[in-house]
Amino acid sequence: MKNILVVVAHGDDMEFMCAGTIYRWVHEFEYSVYELILTDNRRGTYRLKDSEIVVLSKQEAIDAGNVLGLKEVRFANFVDGELEDIPRKHIRNIIIDMIREVKANIVLSWDPFAHGEDHPDHRVTALATYEATSFCSNPNFGTPGLYLPHFVSEAYWFAKKPENAYTFVDITETVEKKIEALLKHETQMDLTFDSLVLEAKTLGINLSGLESAEKEMRNQLIADAIRKYTAEKGKELGYKHAEQFRYEKLGMLEMVLGQEIIKPDFPPSIQAD
Ligand SMILES: [Zn+2]
Repeated sequence: MKNILVVVAHGDDMEFMCAGTIYRWVHEFEYSVYELILTDNRRGTYRLKDSEIVVLSKQEAIDAGNVLGLKEVRFANFVDGELEDIPRKHIRNIIIDMIREVKANIVLSWDPFAHGEDHPDHRVTALATYEATSFCSNPNFGTPGLYLPHFVSEAYWFAKKPENAYTFVDITETVEKKIEALLKHETQMDLTFDSLVLEAKTLGINLSGLESAEKEMRNQLIADAIRKYTAEKGKELGYKHAEQFRYEKLGMLEMVLGQEIIKPDFPPSIQAD
């Protein structure tokens, strides 16, 4: 049995990047999965007031977590879009404390070393999580005396433009659960949709009817986009749908003992060059 912690900046990050894999871990492997969302998602739409969106988006994240079977969805409540302004050690300590509390064996987050990440919140989340996975075993880090030091053995890093990411997880059976969870994020899906409409308008393309698209049509459009995206990921290995990760084993014990101790649930599917 393993415990898993997913650390993300925004409510819908996990669903976009790894929810098909999470569903498999929960239901096939019966692992306990926890999610830590660092921001309050207030920039996820411009159709609502901040005070409304922060409340609604929390419930959406909890509903999405229920679709996937998460043990807990926790919120750090930093202002969306402004993680850069928070001292990173403060964010890192929050992550370290939660890793220790839930005794996470596996951590997932944005890849700190993938280029092409445009969102500052994702970059801060990636780096703080990367540091936390290493330093949670060091009693000199984290909130002193709160929890015992703990060792994280494995990390799965995801990215918009993955690099050195050789682990492809077959999510053919779970892609619809991924989409169902993603679409729980009503407030955040508005922005995804509005951006698409604005892009079309700017390029002079007439998406007749789309602007006034009903929720159902909007959701259909997003669901189709996800299916295409995961199908593209699966192509190389012949999976109908896949999610892609850069997998990393942490620690030195395997090297010291000269034997494989940590067995990845989803071993790298492609050999590194
Ligand atoms: Zn995000």
